[in-house]
Amino acid sequence: MRDENCIFCKIANGEIPAATLYEDDEFRVILDLGPASKGHALILPKNHFADLLDLDDGVSSKVLALAAKIGAAMKKSLGCAGFNLVQNNGEVAGQTVFHFHMHVIPRYEGGPDMVSWEPGTSSGEELAKLAECIKKGLQ
Ligand code: 5GP
Ligand code: ZN
Repeated sequence: MRDENCIFCKIANGEIPAATLYEDDEFRVILDLGPASKGHALILPKNHFADLLDLDDGVSSKVLALAAKIGAAMKKSLGCAGFNLVQNNGEVAGQTVFHFHMHVIPRYEGGPDMVSWEPGTSSGEELAKLAECIKKGLQ
């Protein structure tokens, strides 16, 4: 379940070095080379999955608990006041490495604004129509 051409497969399996803060049989957690803030980490499964839709149930059932463990360690060790979990799926959503990964981004008091958007507007009618539309996709 590895892709020969995937840099995160190589990093996750120790073929390319990275600053590792956690490792077990299924995951490696590393520091991002281009951090959004001090301590920005990436949770990488050791097996190759292109994105969230490709992930198997075993990995997806563990990844959120691991993110909580990393976030708690960051609050304790780095003194961040909170953290964001970011997980991009698809080029249009900002994904640049097509091996599933979850960003854990420490947030510091007085730090820069990030991971935010300008709230739009919508009517109740529009929201009801959209909910019906997405419900069809669940069938
Ligand atoms: P994406 O945009 O796909 O959600 O996130 C990819 C992330 O991987 C980026 O934040 C980028 O800085 C990081 N990254 C890309 N290549 C490497 C690498 O070789 N080593 C490490 N540690 N991080 C990388
Ligand atoms: Zn991979």
